[in-house]
Amino acid sequence: MKKVNSQTTPIYRNSGFFFESLEQIEDAFARNTVVTPEDGYIYSRYDNPTVVDLERRIAEMEQGRYSIAAPSGMAAIDIALSAFEKPSGNRWLFFTEIYGGTNYYIKNVLNDRRGIDTMHLEPENGGYDVEYVAQAIARLKPDVLYFEPVTNPMLIVCNGREIIARAKQMGVRVVVDNTFATPYLWQPLTDGADIVLHSTTKYFSGHGDLAGGVLTMNDEQIYVSAKNYRKFCGMQPSPDDAARLLSYLDSFECRFACQIDNAQKLAHYLNESKQYVENVIYPGLEGDISNSIARDLFRGVGYGAIVTFQIRGGRAAAARFIELLRGEINVVPTLGDAHTIMMPIAQVWGDKYPEQGYFRVSVGTEPFHKIEKNVKKAFENLGVPK
Ligand SMILES: *Cc1c(COP(=O)(O)O)cnc(C)c1O
Repeated sequence: MKKVNSQTTPIYRNSGFFFESLEQIEDAFARNTVVTPEDGYIYSRYDNPTVVDLERRIAEMEQGRYSIAAPSGMAAIDIALSAFEKPSGNRWLFFTEIYGGTNYYIKNVLNDRRGIDTMHLEPENGGYDVEYVAQAIARLKPDVLYFEPVTNPMLIVCNGREIIARAKQMGVRVVVDNTFATPYLWQPLTDGADIVLHSTTKYFSGHGDLAGGVLTMNDEQIYVSAKNYRKFCGMQPSPDDAARLLSYLDSFECRFACQIDNAQKLAHYLNESKQYVENVIYPGLEGDISNSIARDLFRGVGYGAIVTFQIRGGRAAAARFIELLRGEINVVPTLGDAHTIMMPIAQVWGDKYPEQGYFRVSVGTEPFHKIEKNVKKAFENLGVPK
């Protein structure tokens, strides 16, 4: 086939790539590297040119050297941790306030199946103060620290930059799940993290129709180890999904900037609607407990696109609010979509946050007046005692 002038990345659906000679086969199989050269693709489970294009794009976004794409955020987490797994024993310390699926993975896969004991750090007053984390590291002596800079769903921001610095001083490897902040707000590798990872199912893809994950790093040894794990376990994403994600990344910054702006406006609107709203949590609100830490960590670029609030009137009001918004702002168990979506908190995170009436809103890219109009109309029609 002749070359065409394609602006978008071609989708190479190949399982394998043909060799031109016996010598080329010998070269390819003698090559002892996980970085496939442009003309040396062998088999798509090892490397695929469409997926490699995606990985290069993401490495650039993170200001990192190497990226590894995965079929989901959970796969990216598994691949990331594989780079540090030692048969002689592991001392991994996880914040407890991380994605629920990650906590299930730790318990079901790491603890119960692989027999890896893990250490867990509870928050102090809901959050993770630098000194508190540094003391825990000194006491527990982990070799890997794993955290997220923004807790879910209560949106408490930690000083990730300082936490990485302190961990590195003590010789600890650091893995950051930065799905909520994205590289638009923070690039942990530039602050010394060993691996930054994302569920690209969320903001990177942003249209609620694609699952994926990615991890990025600077250290070659970590890269080789993680890349080999993906290869041996067959955890590569499909070239079709990689191409779709590449297209969505074209609008990522623009989408996320709009979502952040809408979230800031929604937080203000909710804060001014006290007759319907009990409490608003958004790091961009003056007076929010995370306001100054978030401003430092995200260098004033913004405060993210999730707003958590509590409606007045308890469970009844929450149920009515969901009904009134159906079709406009749906209850969907994900986040980061171009559509505004929400989740009730007590029904999902009830073991930790049983209080009724709380919602986590993932703010979309709709014109803000539309979001405001829908929420306002729902409030006015609640019909429960104020
Ligand atoms: C969704 C999510 C994950 C898991 O990603 P999947 O794509 O669902 O596998 C991990 N971390 C965070 C912070 C998430 O929000």
